[in-house]
Amino acid sequence: SIPLIQVKNVKKYFTVGNKKLKAVDGLYLDIYQGETVGLVGESGCGKSTAGRTIIRLYEPTSGAVLFNGKNIFQSNDREMSQMRREMQMIFQDPYASLNPRMTVEEVIGEPFAIHGVLSGKKRRERVKELLRLVGLDADHISRFPHEFSGGQRQRIGIARALALDPTFIVCDEPISALDVSIQAQVVNLLKDLQRKMGLTYLFIAHDLSMVKYISDRILVMYLGKMFELADSEKLYEDPLHPYTKALLSSVPIPDPEVKRERIILKGDVPSPIDPPSGCVFRTRCPVAMDVCAKVDPDWKEVKPGHFTACHLYQ
Ligand code: SF4
Ligand code: MG
Repeated sequence: SIPLIQVKNVKKYFTVGNKKLKAVDGLYLDIYQGETVGLVGESGCGKSTAGRTIIRLYEPTSGAVLFNGKNIFQSNDREMSQMRREMQMIFQDPYASLNPRMTVEEVIGEPFAIHGVLSGKKRRERVKELLRLVGLDADHISRFPHEFSGGQRQRIGIARALALDPTFIVCDEPISALDVSIQAQVVNLLKDLQRKMGLTYLFIAHDLSMVKYISDRILVMYLGKMFELADSEKLYEDPLHPYTKALLSSVPIPDPEVKRERIILKGDVPSPIDPPSGCVFRTRCPVAMDVCAKVDPDWKEVKPGHFTACHLYQ
């Protein structure tokens, strides 16, 4: 079967003064129907920009995204409006992404208004149905966002994203702003909804702690570049890239018998306006070699389905 989404060499550059900020610098990714791909990297690595560009909330600098085989970057406004219904987004901060002056009915009903589908009593019934679907009380339809807890607000954001019955959802750090005790509930809800509705997710996270429980495969990014892609289990058991190893070393292991040495990376993430030559990770890499300063490593399939870009494997 062909992938639902095919991302082909997508680049998104921003202009800052007279310089280029390469937020996403060549992204290739196939995402299959019903799959969850985790997208992981530190803040500023371009993962949110990647998520937004893939569904064309940002205009790309170059590349292509095929949705069911059709290049959405070449779609006109009418086609794009149709496509919008298929591709939705859940945002990191449920506080900021909900209009405080709108009732829950208006928040969740807004996509219907924008796309001119359902009205009056039918719309209201559908909103109630969506509230129940995400585990909220349908009688709370006239309440305002501030009357809900953080976890409940994220459920409202999820209900809104589901309103138009999408196929693909970009979840941009949907649990990062929530209490740890609530995070698992929201992840379980997303998994549940995926099963019920056949959804496909790109799940963005800034570390590797929670993402394993929802992702089938995980892509690690750094400074706009792809560093490693593998099945979740493989990535945790057998990470290849030195950056992935460092990220993993900071994830707590439940089994006290297993010891993993903490790898502390030196320095900060360099500015994306002026990234290092060669491998962009070389200024922080504990095993950098001479070649790393000169040559940007190729993206290579090192083991079946397990890709990385690092001179240790070229
Ligand atoms: Fe480290 Fe070199 Fe591999 Fe980059 S290419 S991650 S600097 S070893
Ligand atoms: Mg972000």
